[in-house]
Amino acid sequence: MERTLSIVKPDGVERGLIGEVVRRLEKEGLKIIAMKMIHMTRAQAEGFYAVHRERPFFESLTTFMSSGPVVVMVLEGEDAILRYRTLMGATNYKDAAEGTIRRDFATEIERNVVHGSDAPDTAAFEIGYFFNSFEIM
Ligand code: ATP
Ligand code: MG
Repeated sequence: MERTLSIVKPDGVERGLIGEVVRRLEKEGLKIIAMKMIHMTRAQAEGFYAVHRERPFFESLTTFMSSGPVVVMVLEGEDAILRYRTLMGATNYKDAAEGTIRRDFATEIERNVVHGSDAPDTAAFEIGYFFNSFEIM
């Protein structure tokens, strides 16, 4: 079984899309084994996206990610990382496949509703960033 970290980003929470994201991932057969709502500080968002610190969009992205509450979840299932990224669609919603979360709901490349880990090592880092072992079922 594989685990991945999912975030409903501030735009998704603000627009009332928590239930829609949860419905889609549960329908896909991914199991939620941890879940909470948090409002990250700028420093917490910078730590989370540290891999992107040299990218031109880093400041804008971390401002956005700390602009309001987000819902963080740990998902579990066979190939959970790839299956959840398939549900999300490409980073840029204009390139995302029909029927994906980003294609259906994203409004800008940055405001793309959801985050999902991209590999087992980043999933382990990201899950540990938000959850301790007592919070994961
Ligand atoms: P995420 O890590 O949020 O799941 P991703 O893995 O599809 O998304 P990354 O390349 O890791 O994409 O980029 C992280 C986030 O940074 C994107 O989801 C998006 O919000 C933002 N982003 C990526 N590229 C750009 C860009 N060119 N301009 C503005 N924002 C961007
Ligand atoms: Mg990423």
